[in-house]
Amino acid sequence: MLPIMKEEGFDYSFNPNACETCQGRCCTGESGYIYVTKAEIQKISELLHLDVREFVSKYLFKKMYKYSIKEKQNGDSFECVFYDANSNGCTIYEARPLQCKTFPFWDYYKTRVDELKLECPGISDE
Ligand code: SF4
Ligand code: SF4
Repeated sequence: MLPIMKEEGFDYSFNPNACETCQGRCCTGESGYIYVTKAEIQKISELLHLDVREFVSKYLFKKMYKYSIKEKQNGDSFECVFYDANSNGCTIYEARPLQCKTFPFWDYYKTRVDELKLECPGISDE
């Protein structure tokens, strides 16, 4: 059992054990942006043994001046291309972007806990 996580400044806690049965709701569902920085692009390219340019053209798209990871459509769901439903996990876990590492403790959710609860079954008020 993994310990319950709390972060200063957030009114909720997160139980990471919920990820085992949740089927990656934070990596699938509604279409969204999964931003990656230059350093993260470098790291993921290395993990995948790809040249940075090849990695960018295969897996990323440009949103304004930033890069975001592509999605694949599965029925009504838009899944991050690195989400693997069979193993219920992230295939680039060691090099996943900060945006993924810091979920569900995003400033955006500080005032939107109910919205977060709908997405993530690991959230509770304690
Ligand atoms: S939505 Fe929450 S419980 Fe589900 S995989 Fe993401 S962090 Fe884990
Ligand atoms: S990079 Fe990994 S953790 Fe982030 S959305 Fe994609 S599958 Fe999920």
